[in-house]
Amino acid sequence: MPDSFSLRSVDVKLPPAERFGQFLQGHGKRFTQQRQLIVEMVFSHHDHFDADELIDHLQELIARRKVSRPTVYRTLAELVEAGMLRKMVLGGRSVYEHEYGYPSHDHLYCQRCNKLIEFHSDDLEQIRDAVAAKHDFHVVGHRMFVTGICSECSRGQ
Ligand SMILES: [Zn+2]
Ligand SMILES: [Zn+2]
Repeated sequence: MPDSFSLRSVDVKLPPAERFGQFLQGHGKRFTQQRQLIVEMVFSHHDHFDADELIDHLQELIARRKVSRPTVYRTLAELVEAGMLRKMVLGGRSVYEHEYGYPSHDHLYCQRCNKLIEFHSDDLEQIRDAVAAKHDFHVVGHRMFVTGICSECSRGQ
């Protein structure tokens, strides 16, 4: 893929856990150890994941009763509310990814294997802004999914 479609990096002032702690405080909620463990796991690497996959990763902590499943679901919803995670519904499945500290991007989505390929395009944003300007529309963001079949799947695996 040409370089012009690659994602830039984003600098953030606060580490994710601190940012989330502030959000919770502002909503009169406590930053419990459970929430802390979940946030650390969620932000340990960038990926697209669903709640079941996150629970798999937290299995050991769940087994040791450090974290409960309902808290995982609740924390995911709070992270979306805080604008730190982005929730997408793809093929009937809720998929999450980092919004905080991660550059804006769009996706190619393979309908066969559910793979998501990320890209960024200045051209696309220019078109978006031009269309919005024509409608006196204030842009906050956008979301584009190009659906299709990835190269591996089309090779007939
Ligand atoms: Zn595929
Ligand atoms: Zn993505």
